[in-house]
Amino acid sequence: MLDCIIIGMGPCGISCATYLKRANKDVLVIGKDLGALSKASEIENYYAVGKISGEKLATKGLKEAISLGINCLHDEVLAIEYLDNGYKVITKKNSYESKTIMLALGKVRNSFNEAKKFEGKGVSYCATCDGFFYRNKKIAIVGYNNYMAIELDYLLNLTKDIIIFTNGNKMEVDNKGLLVVEDKISSFNGENKLESITAASTTYDVDGCFIALGSQNAFTLAKQLGLEIKDNNLIVDNNYMTNVPGIFAGGDVIGGLLQVAKAVSDGAIASINIINFLKGVNNV
Ligand SMILES: Cc1cc2nc3c(=O)[nH]c(=O)nc-3n(C[C@H](O)[C@H](O)[C@H](O)COP(=O)(O)OP(=O)(O)OC[C@H]3O[C@@H](n4cnc5c(N)ncnc54)[C@H](O)[C@@H]3O)c2cc1C
Repeated sequence: MLDCIIIGMGPCGISCATYLKRANKDVLVIGKDLGALSKASEIENYYAVGKISGEKLATKGLKEAISLGINCLHDEVLAIEYLDNGYKVITKKNSYESKTIMLALGKVRNSFNEAKKFEGKGVSYCATCDGFFYRNKKIAIVGYNNYMAIELDYLLNLTKDIIIFTNGNKMEVDNKGLLVVEDKISSFNGENKLESITAASTTYDVDGCFIALGSQNAFTLAKQLGLEIKDNNLIVDNNYMTNVPGIFAGGDVIGGLLQVAKAVSDGAIASINIINFLKGVNNV
C-alpha cells in the first residue's frame, strides 16, 4: 500500500509530490491532463521564471517530478473507495491503494463556444492573472453573480471602462454604475484578436473580455466521499485536511487565490501535514 496518492499533476499536486518523495514516502501522482496551466498562453507573475507559456511551465514541473523518481501516471480517476486501512483509487486503466489521498483537482472555468474562439486572444478567465494587460482599456466582463462581482472588483482597480454582459442571465449583484447588457451574446468578433462583442444586434467595441461565470470542480469524486463543499470549494482545516481523516486537498480546488504561487504553497504545506498524519497511521 502506497503512502499517498495525489490526484492532479498541476502545480499543487507536483509540489506536494516533490516534498513527499524527498521525505522518502511512497507516492503516486495521477492526472488526466496538465490542468489549468495548459490554457494559460503566458505566465509572467510567478517567482523567478520570467515569461513562460503555461504549458511549458506545467511540463517542466512534471518532468522535474519524474526525474526525482516520482511515478506520474496519465490516467483519469473515476472513483475512490474506503478500505479499513486507507483508500482504493479506481482509474480508467487500473486501481491503486494508499494510506492517504491528496486532492489537487484544480477547477474548470465555465465558458461558452463564442468565447472559446478567442481564448488567449483577448479572452481571459482570470482577472488577477491578466487584468494588468488591460490597464485603462475598454473591457467586457461576462457574468452575473458573486463570482463576477469579485472579478469585477479587481478589474475596477485597473480600468473604469467596463461593460457587464450577463449573457441572458438576470443580474444578481450590484452593477457598480456600469452598463449592463442582459441580452444573450450572439458573437465575439475580431480578426486575430477580440475586437467587439455582439448581443441582440448591437455591437460593442472592446479590447478584451473576462469570463466570470464561475467554475465547476471535479466534484463527483468529492461527493462520492462525502467531503464538505461550500461555494464551489472543498473545505479543509488548517492542516489542509478535509472532513475525512487522511484525505487532504489544496490548490484551486479549495478556492482562495487561484494562482500558481498559492497552489505550489498549498501542496508544500499539505505534504508536511500528510507526513505527520502518516506518523500516526504507522505509529512512528
Ligand atoms: C487561462 C488561464 C490563465 C492563467 N494565468 C495565470 C497566471 O498568469 N499566473 C498564475 O499564477 N496563475 C494563472 N492561472 C491559474 C493557474 O493555472 C492555477 O491557479 C493553477 O494551475 C492551479 O493549480 P492546481 O494544481 O490547483 O490545479 P490545476 O493546475 O488545474 O491541475 C489540476 C489537475 O487535476 C487533474 N484532475 C482533475 N480531475 C481529475 C480526475 N478525475 N482524474 C485525474 N486527474 C484529475 C487535472 O488533470 C490536472 O492535472 C491561469 C489559469 C487559466 C485557466
